[in-house]
Amino acid sequence: MSLTGLTAHELSELLRKREISSTELTERHLDLINALEGKINAFVTVTGEDALKQAREIDERRARGEELPPLAGIPAALKDNMCTKGVKTTCSSNILYNFIPPYDATVTEKLSAAGAVIMGKCNMDEFAMGSSTENSGFAPTRNPHDLRAVPGGSSGGSAASVAAGEVVFSLGSDTGGSIRQPASFCGVIGLKPTYGYVSRYGLIAFASSLDQIGPFTRDMTDCALVMNAIFGHDPKDSTSAPVEVPDFTGFLKDDVKGLKIGIPKEYMQSGIDPQVAVAVKKAIEKLEELGAFCEEVSLPHTEYALPAYYIIAPAEASSNLARYDGVRYGLRVEADDTISMFNETRSRGFGEEVKRRIMLGTYALSSGYYDAYYLKALKIRTLVKQDFDEAFKKFDCLLTPTSPTSAFDFGEKADDPLSMYMSDICTIPVNLAGIPALSLPFDTVNGRPVGLQLIGKAFDEGTLLRVAYTLEQNTDLTRPKPDLEGALQNGKQS
Ligand code: GLN
Repeated sequence: MSLTGLTAHELSELLRKREISSTELTERHLDLINALEGKINAFVTVTGEDALKQAREIDERRARGEELPPLAGIPAALKDNMCTKGVKTTCSSNILYNFIPPYDATVTEKLSAAGAVIMGKCNMDEFAMGSSTENSGFAPTRNPHDLRAVPGGSSGGSAASVAAGEVVFSLGSDTGGSIRQPASFCGVIGLKPTYGYVSRYGLIAFASSLDQIGPFTRDMTDCALVMNAIFGHDPKDSTSAPVEVPDFTGFLKDDVKGLKIGIPKEYMQSGIDPQVAVAVKKAIEKLEELGAFCEEVSLPHTEYALPAYYIIAPAEASSNLARYDGVRYGLRVEADDTISMFNETRSRGFGEEVKRRIMLGTYALSSGYYDAYYLKALKIRTLVKQDFDEAFKKFDCLLTPTSPTSAFDFGEKADDPLSMYMSDICTIPVNLAGIPALSLPFDTVNGRPVGLQLIGKAFDEGTLLRVAYTLEQNTDLTRPKPDLEGALQNGKQS
């Protein structure tokens, strides 16, 4: 029996019945990581020894007759911007190439408590800035569905590791689309929670008012199980919401009868690949056939969201990244005096895109420009949120494409930051508004997956789970499988 490619809930059942052990499961996944990493490069660090140790502990607890939670013994991975005590955490940046955190992020602690087996840390665009993982300070990740294509970004490694079967689920972070867009490109599910629903403690900050951690999974049941494990109030994060967390599996209902789903017209207009639009229309027809009401709605400030984001996110980043100066931790390039040391460290440690954002942000916050740019962007942020508030008076959720296109080729947008920024045009407004959204694979275009985005009211992830689960149960379009034979053959040769 092939153990890679199954879902957490399927594997959990096999583990519970003792048909397999977690050690065996971990070994099979490590074998696949070894065979594929030369081609995919989803990981910055693989923690094989630690993973086997965790797996053996889970097997021992099970042998003693302990009842274990559903993710116990299941191989998982974390984006390399989530702190792991004693394990290198780099943000795929040369400036943190040697940083070993002395503490765990809250999500790391929560996954350990749930018994998940952490296989390693995933590659990403440096400091989560990018949409293709080509900005990794080390080497890019490849898309398991087509090695010529990017996996999306910035959580490209987390998405690719799940799509390739190297792990069963993973966590990514989403500031403007970095969970949903790579999920869409790699044909897996990705959820960005409501701002404040998952703790950011120990997540290395990019833009603190936008960043959220969320899961990548192969099906909706796994998505709910991972949400159960990582959501919840955390006193260590002052922006964490003090709300009760429901059992998310309770929302997995095959029923959309009577639900009102809005189709924002601004998201279906310029720049959307016609084949992506066809996939979205197919989903709308299916939902109507299953009893939902779908109707066009307008979110008039959508076109201003991207420019506002590219003021707010860099502004916050310029402040958050001021701490990397060669003094406290990470890279230090020695020089004759302190100022030269700061300069050399930052100029060699940060990549081009990160420097671009720091300059943009510093400029937007400087006196004289603050009102013209930053304050104005904040006002737009409010208007974008009001558009959603208005739409949710009438609709239970909204449906859009996740990204205007399927995965693009390596190099296609690398020299054109603006066209790269555009690939998040459908996801960015959601972060500005702080609301939840999920990307569900739905069909493929020339072998490359397409994602549907479902957007919900704050703290109403449940409706998104319900709609996505219904589509999953009633179509065979939500689980595109990559053909990795070629990569495996080549992997063996190289
Ligand atoms: N691609 C967007 C950016 O470069 C979003 C990144 C993210 O969500 N971390 O800023």
